[in-house]
Amino acid sequence: MAATIYPDYPPALTSDQSGYLLSNLKDWSILNGLAVRPSPAFVSREIDPSGSLAVTAPLTLFPSLFPRVCFDEARAIQTGYNELYAAIAGDETWLKEIVEEIAQVDEFIAKLWQVHLAVKREGYTQDLSLGLFRSDYMVHRDPLNSAAEPQIRQVEFNTIASSFGGLAAKVSALHRHLLQIQAFPPTQLDLITANNLPDNLSVQSLSRGLATAHKAYGNCVSEPNRPLCILFIVQSPENNIFDQHALSNELWTNHGIPTFRVAYGNILRHTSVAHSFPTRPLIYSPPNLPSSYEVTTCYFRAGYSPAEYPDDTAWSARLHLERSAAIKCPSILTHLAGSKKIQQILATPSSTYLERFLARSRAISDTTAVASRIRATFAAMYPLDSSPAGRHAASLATSPHESAAYVLKPQREGGGNNIYGTKIPAFLKSLGDDELKWKGYVLMELIEPPSLRNTIFRNGEVKSGEVIGELGVYGVCLWRNGKDKHKDKVEILENFEAGHLLRTKGRESEEGGVAAGFGSVDSVCLI
Ligand code: ADP
Ligand code: MG
Ligand code: MG
Repeated sequence: MAATIYPDYPPALTSDQSGYLLSNLKDWSILNGLAVRPSPAFVSREIDPSGSLAVTAPLTLFPSLFPRVCFDEARAIQTGYNELYAAIAGDETWLKEIVEEIAQVDEFIAKLWQVHLAVKREGYTQDLSLGLFRSDYMVHRDPLNSAAEPQIRQVEFNTIASSFGGLAAKVSALHRHLLQIQAFPPTQLDLITANNLPDNLSVQSLSRGLATAHKAYGNCVSEPNRPLCILFIVQSPENNIFDQHALSNELWTNHGIPTFRVAYGNILRHTSVAHSFPTRPLIYSPPNLPSSYEVTTCYFRAGYSPAEYPDDTAWSARLHLERSAAIKCPSILTHLAGSKKIQQILATPSSTYLERFLARSRAISDTTAVASRIRATFAAMYPLDSSPAGRHAASLATSPHESAAYVLKPQREGGGNNIYGTKIPAFLKSLGDDELKWKGYVLMELIEPPSLRNTIFRNGEVKSGEVIGELGVYGVCLWRNGKDKHKDKVEILENFEAGHLLRTKGRESEEGGVAAGFGSVDSVCLI
């Protein structure tokens, strides 16, 4: 285990060393946009009434130790994962059965599905889909065999608003910079070397994904010479804004593509669908500019949480975008493919879903090998329904003792929604006697990564202690949905691994959300 092999990592710093490291970290982070808008709990509205302050993003002082075998494997299987989720999103019939089950107890999922059905009735006009995915893992050690290689276990697969790609590359660059200026004490230099700090191309790669979709859209159809743009659909307010600006900046600087931001609540005000064209191009009219743009790609950094849909207008806005000709990142079906329920079904022992889906999106014939590498990353997951596996899960989840090893997850994104360990029995009880409601949840075995030590700089405070890390690997996939007799095939046009993210949180905290207020962004030091 890394913690036992390297008990002294990272070293205690003298106050001079700490002062040097921190002052460089603070300055470099602002200079390079490794920053967030401060949360109101840290900087009150009275201090910053115009909302103009930015602060260093929550960061670790040192890169965290991470097993190289795990890092390499997580990156190597990302293109397989991309194809898998493209094929799932392309199989409406399969999704329908699963989604309709959950929709009985989960209104949010039901509404998303209704949006898809409404567009299907009218006919989709865009057969291209873009995924900017992130597959998240923790390191697993076999408790019975300490000599065995560490392995990765998947926490979840994100298909909508996969965040932090903009900051992830920068934190890798920051730790490299700190190495170059000798901010790490000399005793650690045999571990923190340039060779052990891998490149992280998340900003370039995710932007290249968006640029590829933009080009694949083709020419403007609404009007000769109307310019094209990419639209970021965002939350308002958004603290993690520099993460998003990193991608817009790259799109403009290196691809010449204009991007605009529209708050989810302003979609209907600032965009329109040109009804005189059967293809339904999406037009964006910036409130401050005379010209309007045809939108090639809608990149959702919002729209994944029920709180963002307070009324029917919010649902009309989602329908409005979905039925337009813009390429959606993600489409409704791709959004739904990222449900925890789908992850649980894929992880059903002895199921052959992986082989089946990979065969639909892959041109080459090593499906079995790819499927088995993907399967090796699954942790145990159970439904909470009336099937034998569901009954078994219910007995685990309702036991005060057994539940300690599990996490209960609803079909939600964005952090802060799960129920952990021994709190599960009381939570299930609070759902009432109606076990039908349990169907909206999945039960997952808790992954227990080895504890490491690191120091987190967050909201101006420095805290050292035991931490655990979660590695995310980004993936870009652009695909064309099959038609007619090839309906269940997807044609992959672009597919690549797109950089990585390490998030690190205090050992004691259950959730690791950086934005939700528990964690920090980090980079890997490979061992
Ligand atoms: P979300 O989509 O809201 O991010 P996640 O499934 O990623 O949901 O859960 C949120 C956090 O909870 C994760 O980042 C991780 O810290 C923790 N977590 C989730 N599943 C597990 C698990 N099986 N084992 C350990 N921690 C987990
Ligand atoms: Mg998620
Ligand atoms: Mg997550």
